[in-house]
Formats: sequence, structure tokens, C-alpha cells
Amino acid sequence: MTTAAADTSVQLGRIRVLKEAIITNQLPKPGPVVYWMFRDQRLRDNWALIHAVDQANKRNVPVAVAFNLFDRFLGAKARQLGFMLRGLQQLHLDFQQTLHIPFFLFQGEAIDTIPSFLEECGASLLVTDFSPLRQVRGWKEEIVKRVSDSVSIHEVDAHNVVPTWVASDKLEYGARTIRRKINNWLPAYLIEFPKLMPQSRKWGNPNQIIDWETLIENVLREGAEVPEIEWCKSGENAALETLMGTKGFLTIGLKNYSTDRNNPLKPKGLSGLSPYLHFGQISAQRCAIEAHKLRKVNPQAVGTFLEELIVRRELSDNFCYYQPHYDSLQGAWDWAQKTLMDHALDAREHLYTREQLEKAQTADLLWNASQLEMVHNGKMHGFMRMYWAKKILEWTTSPQEALEIAVYLNDKYHLDGRDPNGYVGCMWSICGIHDQGWRERPVFGKIRYMNYAGCKRKFDVDGYIAYVKRLVGDIKKRKGETLLNSKAKQLTSIQQLPVKKLT
Ligand SMILES: Cc1cc2nc3c(=O)[nH]c(=O)nc-3n(C[C@H](O)[C@H](O)[C@H](O)COP(=O)(O)OP(=O)(O)OC[C@H]3O[C@@H](n4cnc5c(N)ncnc54)[C@H](O)[C@@H]3O)c2cc1C
Repeated sequence: MTTAAADTSVQLGRIRVLKEAIITNQLPKPGPVVYWMFRDQRLRDNWALIHAVDQANKRNVPVAVAFNLFDRFLGAKARQLGFMLRGLQQLHLDFQQTLHIPFFLFQGEAIDTIPSFLEECGASLLVTDFSPLRQVRGWKEEIVKRVSDSVSIHEVDAHNVVPTWVASDKLEYGARTIRRKINNWLPAYLIEFPKLMPQSRKWGNPNQIIDWETLIENVLREGAEVPEIEWCKSGENAALETLMGTKGFLTIGLKNYSTDRNNPLKPKGLSGLSPYLHFGQISAQRCAIEAHKLRKVNPQAVGTFLEELIVRRELSDNFCYYQPHYDSLQGAWDWAQKTLMDHALDAREHLYTREQLEKAQTADLLWNASQLEMVHNGKMHGFMRMYWAKKILEWTTSPQEALEIAVYLNDKYHLDGRDPNGYVGCMWSICGIHDQGWRERPVFGKIRYMNYAGCKRKFDVDGYIAYVKRLVGDIKKRKGETLLNSKAKQLTSIQQLPVKKLT
């Protein structure tokens, strides 16, 4: 694998050549460029798209975007799939209307659909964005094997400010070890995006008809167990609004970020960007550029935000990329595995099953509140996520079981779940990755401990429990009303049906 692909406005370090086409004299003129979009579902500020258009212009061929809809990837339900499809529906329109680039949607396995589309359109280059997750890497390896030798494949890290493979070539121990490396690269990579070049050749018919309404209806029905949430509107415009609109994070929330972000009673103290970052509806680089512009006014808040947005987030990609066991006990450092095993048989004050935890049936009202916030609102406050996962370690029969349950619940209910940040968050809480050893105690061993009393010292625990109760009550009430309204509508439409005369 090489890291170069000349003639592009994208930094070469951001691009990796996964496959170099074999050029033969028999080949007629080159075929189109296809961008297989997976993780970076946006039109603006997208290095993979910029590269695809650059390459198409260089070859004087058209470019198309292809998206493969998997069957419930990593257990996604209505909440995640509805959000994603609504964003893609807007994106499809934007591609067609503003760029005249066709957007093809395939359903099934990408290892089948992408190679057959490349063959069908006679493509010469496949551009794809980057994800460190094992499934995605596995598909790419397979696609490299399946596509014809006349097709090149370029992978572009359009998700991280500093590309994962540039930031570090190894598994980093923690924020302390990767921070300096990332900071050294920021002058080169934290730059304004170039303007997307107009296409020199256009696709014959850029208008693809996709029945989004039926697709959305289907995923909402099939994944109804975890319904959509209302507070987070999908799409690139909504993402930008959340970042820098009149009520956006940089306009309102940033100034108190350093103090409010650890207070679960102040959900607006956080940016609320994680769903948009997860689905790539906004670029982390855009968020960083805009935040950076405010550094003179709010130096501390901007510094803290950039630490989370760049260092911590990109450390998660580093972990998932270089640690094949990123979601199992095997992925923990030796000291952590040893200490957890030393305490595996310690007596637990409570033991709960996955079902009891999922239903928030524990003796700890604070934990139950955080679980309900996640189940009903789709986003648990960042501070509570740590407490939540650590308690699962305390209340289950083994660290491996704790990790499995935490990942299962996190991925099932969080709108931003199924993300490297989620695997690392669970691994940090339960297996001490990116952390250090602490004073030894039962069950946790040397893994950092958190308890109810500590939370009480930090924030108004009863206030948070009452806040979640109100929140969940309101959500259930609105759902009940929506259900009643749709039943009433059904009834009216039945009553309005023409009555067939009995003969
Ligand atoms: C057990 C556990 C599970 C988690 N699961 C997820 C998950 O599924 N998806 C997810 O995106 N994050 C997860 N996190 C990390 C973090 O809690 C969330 O990113 C954050 O709460 C999202 O809210 P926000 O965007 O409003 O945060 P903000 O504080 O406004 O942060 C801005 C962005 O910085 C990044 N960030 C913030 N905190 C962290 C962190 N600790 N590690 C890595 N990046 C961070 C995120 O991309 C976030 O969107 C988890 C953490 C823990 C402890």
C-alpha cells in the first residue's frame, strides 16, 4: 500500500492507494470515477469527494457517488437508520441539484454491489472514505480482490483532522502520547478546504430516482423497537446550525464549555455534535476551524473543546485502527487484564442481567436515570456515560460480560453509537485503556472507580434524576399523542371510504 496519488488538491498524506490499476495498451479511454461514500455522508468539506472530483477532472471523465445500505449494520435500528436515511435523502437532492453528480443507492452487501456497479459503468477509479472498524476494512480488502485490474482504489481519510495513519503509525498509549504528534501536524492539516472544482465532464443522466419514503418507512417499521428521537434533526444544514447557528454551540454554549460540560443537568453545556460527527454530516475539521476562530475570545473553552474534538476523538480512531480487539478484554493492556482477572471472582454487592440493566431495574436511581436518558432520548450525557459503564463492571459476573453489555446497549440506543468513540468509551471505563492504574479495590482492581457519592459531590444528583423523569414523561406523552393522532387519522380515512351498497 502506498500513500501517494498525484494531481489532487487533497494533501497526499490523506490518501492511500489500496490498489493501483494495471495499465495496458488495449485499454480504451479511462472510465468514470466512483466515490463509495460510507462514513462521511456530506457534500461540504469532504476530502474524499474533493479527491474524487479532482481525479475525474484529471481523467476528463464523469464522477458518481454510490452508497450501499446494509441490512441493519451493527444492529442499527429505526433511531439510527431513520436519521441516516433522512440525511441521505437531502444529500441526494443536493448532489443532483447543486453539483449535478448522480447519487446511486444500493441495498445488500457492498462487496457485491460496489464491484458490480464499477463493472457496469466501466469505472477506472474507486474513491472511498476511511473507517477503522473491522467490518469496513474487511469489505475493502474483499473489494480490492474482486474489482478488475483496470480499476484503482484510493482511500481518503475524510473524517479526521490529521489522518489516522499520519498522526501515528502505532497503537498509542493515551492522549498524553498522541497529543504532541497530532499538534505537530495541525499546521499542515488544519487548513481551510479548497473549493470543489466544477466537473469537466458530467454523467449522462444525473437524476436517479430513489424511493426514500418507502425506504424510511421500512427501516422505521423493522427497527421500531428503538424509535427515532425528535430533538436532533438530520442533515448537513441542521449540523451546521448546531455548530454555528443563532442558537448553535459556538454562538451560545462554547463560552461555558469548560465548566458546564461535566454537569449532566446542563445537556446544552455540550456541543450536541456527536450524531452529526458520527454520520459524517459535518466535518470535524470544519468544527475545529470555526472554533479556532474564537480562540482569542474564549481561549480556555476553545482549547478544551479542541482537545475533545481532535485529540480524544482521533485517539479513538487510533485505537480501533491499531488494536484488532478494540471491543474485547483482549484489547486491554496487560496490567489492566491482569488486575481485572485478579478480581474477577470478587463478591459483587449486586448482580444484574442484561435484561434488568436494559430495563433500568437496578437499585441505583442515578444509574437508572442515565439508562433511561439513553433509551428514550438517544443521548446520555457525556459525564454519565462514564459512571454508567463503570457500574456495569461492578454489577455483572465478569469484565468481558460487562464490556459486551455496555457495547450492546451503547450501540443499540445511542444515536451516536456504533462509533470508535463508543468502543473506546466502554474500553476506557471498563478496561482502563488510555488511562492509568489507580488504588486497588474490589472488582475494579486498579481500574479507575466512580461512585454515587463522587457524583453527588460534582452535581445535583436528585435534580438530574428529576430532569430525566420529566424528559422521559414528555417523550412518552408526545409519542402517545402521535399514536392517537395517527389512529384517529386512520379512522377518519376508513369512515370516508365510499360505502359499497349491499345488493
Ligand atoms: C461509556 C462511554 C460510551 C461512549 N459512547 C460514545 C459513542 O457511542 N459515540 C460517541 O461519539 N461518543 C461516545 N462517547 C464519548 C463522549 O461521551 C461523547 O462523544 C460525547 O458525550 C458526545 O456529546 P457531544 O458531542 O455533545 O460532546 P462534546 O463534549 O461537545 O464533544 C464534541 C465532540 O468531541 C468528541 N468527544 C467528546 N468527548 C470524547 C471522548 N471522551 N472520547 C472521544 N471523543 C470525544 C466527540 O466527537 C464529540 O462529539 C462515550 C463515552 C463513554 C465513557
